[in-house]
Amino acid sequence: MDSTVNEVFVKTILNKHKKRDRYFLDDYSVNPYSGCSFNCLYCYTKGSKYGKGRSKVLSAKVNAPEVLEKQLRRRAEKGEYGIIAMSTATEPYQGVEKHLKLTRKLLEIILKYRFPVHILTKSTLVLRDLELLKEVDKSAILPEDLREKFDRGVIVNFSMSTLDEKLANVLEVGAPTPKERLEAMKRCKEVQLFAGVSYIPLLPYISDSEEKLDEMIRTAKDYGADFVFTGVLTLFGNDLAGSKILYYRFLEKRCPELLPRYKNLFERSYQPPKEYQEHLEEKSKKLCKKYRIKKGII
Ligand code: SF4
Repeated sequence: MDSTVNEVFVKTILNKHKKRDRYFLDDYSVNPYSGCSFNCLYCYTKGSKYGKGRSKVLSAKVNAPEVLEKQLRRRAEKGEYGIIAMSTATEPYQGVEKHLKLTRKLLEIILKYRFPVHILTKSTLVLRDLELLKEVDKSAILPEDLREKFDRGVIVNFSMSTLDEKLANVLEVGAPTPKERLEAMKRCKEVQLFAGVSYIPLLPYISDSEEKLDEMIRTAKDYGADFVFTGVLTLFGNDLAGSKILYYRFLEKRCPELLPRYKNLFERSYQPPKEYQEHLEEKSKKLCKKYRIKKGII
């Protein structure tokens, strides 16, 4: 075991959502790790309820395969199929995965029980598992009420907040560059997987202008993406480890003129006001139409 990774044992690994996510379509989520070495400044787990209980040191849930085997067997026996999001509170393909292969072992179990999966990643390491993902794609059983709208067993979704390599290097310090992620997405498409890009979070006054969005959506289309997601920035917490303080510090250093505008935008909530959100949504829809690319999966 890597000296920078803790070993933890868990009682449960498959989380069943109360309701299916209407955008990402997942009924379940699986997080093989606790913490994340990519260490994005804006990470929504920093200071929010999603990060509660997360250890400060990166931890690998070493017994996750045995636990998932039991949990999925039970769900499969009852016919409770649903898309599993991998992952919602960590990066399934961060550095340690290269030798731990925990995500890979979990995917092998997912394949055995024929569950569909939605991979959410910023990493190129997902390419290691392309053959396995193709098997999952072929054999997965979708929940009955989704079958008419969607017919794929695997979704590979690469997330990024900007195409600016220098900025990404500051904000998503441990992750492969946006270009590397786009190339990885292209590779997924070449092997006929269903793949696209999540521009989440779009950074107010940095990567959310019509001009920037136009470039981002056009680029996704040029790389062959099946879909594009867009979403707003969220900033949580009031202590030094919270994403709000970390992000404000970044603004102070790099673009202090934006700080008052951000304070105004995040004055009342962890997310920008409804009007901002609606405006961003309208812009994204318009541009997806312009470039004939699906906004969302269905
Ligand atoms: S890759 Fe995802 S989970 Fe990891 S730090 Fe970045 S936003 Fe958080």
